[in-house]
Amino acid sequence: MIDGVAKYVNTQICDHLRVIVPPILAAGAGVLAYGVRGRSSQIFGPSVWRGDPRHNAVAITFDDGPSESTPLLLDTLRQYGASATFFQCGSNVRRLPAIAREVQAAGHEIGNHSDSHPLCCFRAPAFIHDDFARAQLTFEQTLGTAPSLMRAPFGVRWFGYRDMQAKLGLRGVMWTVIGLDWKLSAEAVCNRVLRAASNGTIVCLHDGRGCTARPDIRVSLEAVKRILPTLLERGLRFETVSQILCPVT
Ligand SMILES: [Zn+2]
Repeated sequence: MIDGVAKYVNTQICDHLRVIVPPILAAGAGVLAYGVRGRSSQIFGPSVWRGDPRHNAVAITFDDGPSESTPLLLDTLRQYGASATFFQCGSNVRRLPAIAREVQAAGHEIGNHSDSHPLCCFRAPAFIHDDFARAQLTFEQTLGTAPSLMRAPFGVRWFGYRDMQAKLGLRGVMWTVIGLDWKLSAEAVCNRVLRAASNGTIVCLHDGRGCTARPDIRVSLEAVKRILPTLLERGLRFETVSQILCPVT
């Protein structure tokens, strides 16, 4: 009798687990995916994804530079009096130090986008720290100063990011809207950005393609030429990420 009851209880528990475990695992995977890629996630370290919505300014950001075509982008930004933020890779800065210095001299903000642009999920915390630390050193040696902002390659954070950010004094920056300028047409990039852009928006575009030499960024350049005048017509100003986070009103 007691055996029978035990068997019955076991069967009930197994049936119950069969029902509740998959959703728990799925929910866990969902939380992890959000932590890794969610634009507002703080799970793997402090991060921002938008500025003050009461402030009529947007922050245009460019990842993966500097590249050989970055000076063309600087010309367009100059034409519209726009300040921007460049999340550069250390290895690109060592390849093109004069262009990195040109970006700095034009008054734009520079952030750390890692050294080798790795996909950091499943990487050891020491690897993540060392890659960003190598880039910080390159910025110090090339520009005389190290960034206080960083953006994760592919927007992917992982275990070890929080510790790395604390040790290197880096605040994470995601985005309000990403242009997908490495795969869409200039028109589609414009539409995505212009649909989303309003007070406090952080826009993510690219002036490079990972650590590739001589990347083709014509779509990004064309998109920026269309986006800047349209946003100016809407009464929006262009500020760096640091400015948009701490607006002077
Ligand atoms: Zn990138």
